[in-house]
Amino acid sequence: MQTNELTLYAPISGLIVPLEQVPDEVFAKKMVGDGISIDPTDSSLVAPCDGTVLQVHRARHAVTLQSPQGVEILIHIGIDTVGLKGVGFSAHVQEGDSVSAGDKLLSFDADFVATQATSLLTQILITNDERVAGMQYSQGIAQAGDTALLNLQLTEASQKSTASNGATITGPEIIIPNSQGLHARPSATLAGHAKTFKATIHLHKTTQAHNTVQPANAKSVVALMGLELDLHDRVYLTATGDDAEPAIKALSTLINEGSGEDCLPINKEETTNSSTAKNTAPRQAPIDRSPINDTQALPVNGELHGVCASPGLVAGKIWQLVRTTLTIDEQGKNTQWELSQLDAALKQAQKDLTHLAQTADSEAQKGIFAAHSELLTDPELLEHAQGHIAQGKSAAWAWQQAFEAQATLLSQLKNALLAARATDMRDLGQRVLTLLAGDEQADNTIPDNVILIADDLTPSDTANLDPQRILGFCTATGGASSHVAIIARALNIPAIAGIDKRALQLPNDTQVMLRADTGLLQIAPAQEQIDTLMAEQKADNILNKAALSAAQKPAITQCGKTIEVVCNVGNIKDVNGAQALGAEGVGLLRSEFLFMQRANAPTEDEQTLAYSQVANAFGKGQNIIIRTLDVGGDKPLSYLPLPKEDNPFLGVRGIRVSLAHPEVFRTQLRAILRASHDCIANVHIMFPMITTLEDLRSAKAMLEQERIALNVAPIPVGIMVEVPSVAMLAEQFAREADFFSVGTNDLTQYTLAVDRGHPDLAKTADPLNPAVLAMIGRAVEGAHKHNTWVGVCGGIASDPLAVPILLGLGVDELSGSLPSLPRVKAAIRDQTLEQCQDLAQQALLASTADDVRELLQKHKHPAPSTQHRMLRR
Ligand code: PEP
Ligand code: MG
Repeated sequence: MQTNELTLYAPISGLIVPLEQVPDEVFAKKMVGDGISIDPTDSSLVAPCDGTVLQVHRARHAVTLQSPQGVEILIHIGIDTVGLKGVGFSAHVQEGDSVSAGDKLLSFDADFVATQATSLLTQILITNDERVAGMQYSQGIAQAGDTALLNLQLTEASQKSTASNGATITGPEIIIPNSQGLHARPSATLAGHAKTFKATIHLHKTTQAHNTVQPANAKSVVALMGLELDLHDRVYLTATGDDAEPAIKALSTLINEGSGEDCLPINKEETTNSSTAKNTAPRQAPIDRSPINDTQALPVNGELHGVCASPGLVAGKIWQLVRTTLTIDEQGKNTQWELSQLDAALKQAQKDLTHLAQTADSEAQKGIFAAHSELLTDPELLEHAQGHIAQGKSAAWAWQQAFEAQATLLSQLKNALLAARATDMRDLGQRVLTLLAGDEQADNTIPDNVILIADDLTPSDTANLDPQRILGFCTATGGASSHVAIIARALNIPAIAGIDKRALQLPNDTQVMLRADTGLLQIAPAQEQIDTLMAEQKADNILNKAALSAAQKPAITQCGKTIEVVCNVGNIKDVNGAQALGAEGVGLLRSEFLFMQRANAPTEDEQTLAYSQVANAFGKGQNIIIRTLDVGGDKPLSYLPLPKEDNPFLGVRGIRVSLAHPEVFRTQLRAILRASHDCIANVHIMFPMITTLEDLRSAKAMLEQERIALNVAPIPVGIMVEVPSVAMLAEQFAREADFFSVGTNDLTQYTLAVDRGHPDLAKTADPLNPAVLAMIGRAVEGAHKHNTWVGVCGGIASDPLAVPILLGLGVDELSGSLPSLPRVKAAIRDQTLEQCQDLAQQALLASTADDVRELLQKHKHPAPSTQHRMLRR
């Protein structure tokens, strides 16, 4: 027999707070339900009673239980925590699980969530409070699982509504305008309004295939949250009962207006286009290949502009890298023939994958291809495709439907690791589809000695380019500091990013000259123009040769100051030949490259080996700076659940990712500490994207704990100076960091508020802008007051032209791309510090980046009188 009382025990330890005091109207006004709040002193949530898990919110910040009596209890950790999209939270149960009072439900990283959310106040709410006739709650301090928090007197389960007479009315399709989807707050508002109508009201979610999922009772907050509606999802209401019509009208308007939240109006067309694009777009945005019309006409002077991604000058014919969109006929010839086509394509794909798995360079790649082989034999996938063929469809069409359906299914899974398999499914699907559609459609072979033009290249595309076969490349997207550019520099291929989109319309084999240094693609250049520039390049090559022959000598200014010149690397392969190019150590090991393009995070042993290999390539006394994982923003990892963010560069990125995933971070810290112990070079550790001292302290505390546990000696700890807050508070940071390394790629982005990969703003993202230089100057000034040395490892450090300014600002170390080092060293040897300081002062007073560039050009080629003046000083 069910009792008519229910005691809920505290699900978390902390101070009990009346709901009215919660700084969020929706909770304070009991719109979600009546209950109590706890200000937690703990970071795990346990079941307040026996029950069944009705729902775990996909952001893992809220869970709903149903007690055996049918009472629904929603426990919501923090305020505005839905926006963290699961980062910092772990779920220990899933929907449908039976739990006993005291069982662990959710846990969270209290330090992280506390700094990210408005409040950690945790609400315990009864969402079907029509079941509650009375409620008493405790006061003071609650002990999780021990303190009887709420005592509820229950009513009998309510009878089914009698209001469902009459016809069912269906409302219009509505697009969810809430940026965080229909989370607790808008759900509560909607349910609250729905309850004011007698009609039975349901909210339906329209799926992309225009099927519907189980509708939700619009009067139930939990049911509404259970729809997991996201921004731009499509829904409609149905209502049955006397007041169905006004209900539909009022509630449709309410949803349209954001269910009580401030939302931007929805542009229906945009969302329609983007949702279609999701279904059909190839990985690269489709390129308009139509003939150039009047508005797109090429400039009369034949010059298309972008920004230098990797310096150099080449002339040659262009080749457009187009990702083929295959044309597929829906109707098949006959079932038998189509089945045999599918069978043959699957066999061929299986063969190709086996070969790829056998010949792959790394274990990770082998694993990926082996997993693809496995997916290929998935019976559901095959049955799905065969089913379509049996209905008269072509093998290609049937296969596309089948793998897309599987991929969509995977991508909707809550488990981020499984959801990431959708990409594998699409890759694999495309492989078979290409075989079915015929090779001639997908011939992407790049001829030798061409200048490649593409809308975009992913870092892995770029890494796969053979520098021996490609003269250069231009991408319409990406800026000078994009990761594509970084890799292009490492490969020493001249490249332009953010090129005028009209370049994408040039026919293959158009003769061009790529003047990467000035970000210029010259169409059909005159032969004498090529000759002049080639002659200049020849002269430049002579300087390069001289610089190369002196590369291994130290870089000492004319006044006797030695500047340490080190290199930026991603892995051991990059280090080969580093000493020949004059690298005196590593100023930036971008450890994230070790984490990319693989199915799982590298293990501690794997990392230790990789770091030791890099460090062992250098000798005693040489500095090796290993930067901890810097992902997020433009560097996502398939196996690390990073939320999709509206502003990823302002979101969980750099050290924030590490602090949100302590298990990944601590593994890396241990690996770095072990590598430091094992080699003779001076291993340093550096944290990326530090913005606050709290972050630095948290990271250092974890490092120290791991160091003590491993019983190894301390290593120098530094930070990247990539955001203005660090430059502004340089003195404070310098007290707690052993060194700084200025990341001008990000510092420019954050100082000038320009996305570093923005194609149209690439020119604005100039690290020589006086504002960025002022940031560097301030960082150096603050650091030197506390004997903290300062390096620069952003792209500016690879630019010999910028060297005198950096020296003038007081920088102690320059870390550049390997090919740039000899010229950077040569540029240092040309300077006296006094001249540099003079120049830096003028640059700081300059108004624009162009003014600074002009100053630098003058400094490089002084007019005779100026030269005279400078020599006299
Ligand atoms: C930088 O921001 O300048 C930097 C060196 O870091 P990354 O380019 O890897 O973001
Ligand atoms: Mg950076």
